[in-house]
Amino acid sequence: MQPNTKFPSEKASILLIYTGGTIGMRENPETSALESIDFSHLHDNLPELQKLGHKISTYQFNPPLDSSDIGLAGWQELVRIISTEYERFDGFVILHGTDTMSFTASALSFMLENLGKPVIFTGSQLPISVLRTDGKENLITAIEIAAASENGLPLVPEVCIFFENALLRGNRTRKISANNFSAFRSFNYPPLASAGVHIRYEQQYINRIPGHLPLRPHYSMDNNIAILKLFPGITMNVVEHILNIPELKGMVLETFGSGNAPRAATFLRLIKEAIEKGIVIVNVTQCLGGSVEMQRYETGRELLETGVVSGYDITAESAVVKLMYLFGQGMSVAEVKENLNRSLVGEISLPSI
Ligand code: ASP
Repeated sequence: MQPNTKFPSEKASILLIYTGGTIGMRENPETSALESIDFSHLHDNLPELQKLGHKISTYQFNPPLDSSDIGLAGWQELVRIISTEYERFDGFVILHGTDTMSFTASALSFMLENLGKPVIFTGSQLPISVLRTDGKENLITAIEIAAASENGLPLVPEVCIFFENALLRGNRTRKISANNFSAFRSFNYPPLASAGVHIRYEQQYINRIPGHLPLRPHYSMDNNIAILKLFPGITMNVVEHILNIPELKGMVLETFGSGNAPRAATFLRLIKEAIEKGIVIVNVTQCLGGSVEMQRYETGRELLETGVVSGYDITAESAVVKLMYLFGQGMSVAEVKENLNRSLVGEISLPSI
């Protein structure tokens, strides 16, 4: 057991934010359709929460969103709620649809600069009202994690996803299954905690902001960004059209293996011309795990020579929102590139030189 870990009797205060998604739905007995429950009556729906002993307040998006509909406005609303309520609560739990949870968790990790309190995302594959639901365990453990502290300091002051039994750094996650209860993985960074009979925290992997820096919420995100996923046989017409979108500022290029792309002269020319126009192109691997190493093969080295930036081991989800965040801060192309080569909130592992 952890020394001085906060026990339920000490009552942590948790803000539970329901954005939408399967977890908060129930089958309408008359129509059999899934509809959202009212989370302001959470205790009626989940009497188990009383036993936790924490002070839980709720906030719900109106209307609740399927996570396919979330975007900049939803992320900004989350940042606004958390920054407004930051001093009043020990931790935040966000219920969110699983489909785009990795994008939202990545976005918040950048938008909540100097975060010093837990922001734990969770959701479920089956509605909380269904007997076999995975939602109850996910929610209860997420609350426990958000409430956990040691010597007065939160154990996990990061934006995370808790799902099934693993606590993962949010900006490292990917949704990997549409069916399994174990729906998320972090292939390039170890879990921050695992929940079995006890919740075991891996302190050495958890980020802590040194000192007591005040939270700096950022709202501005620039979504003039695209993702281009390569495939054998892709036509140059597709590449050319994407790179000529008038407002385009940045593009995540999903390449093969360790960052390889076709060596066709037209392809390299289109990429080079786009970079010369000021479009930032980040190379991210299509593989689930591992890192881009553009010097490794001729097919990657040529991309490097055109000015494509390495995304190292970043996920495409995290790369896309990092570009939105960097351009949203009004950074120049050079500053954006410089920050892509830095780990801002643990989103990449830089190779040791
Ligand atoms: N379509 C739902 C959503 O992402 C699925 C889920 O909640 O798991 O909102």
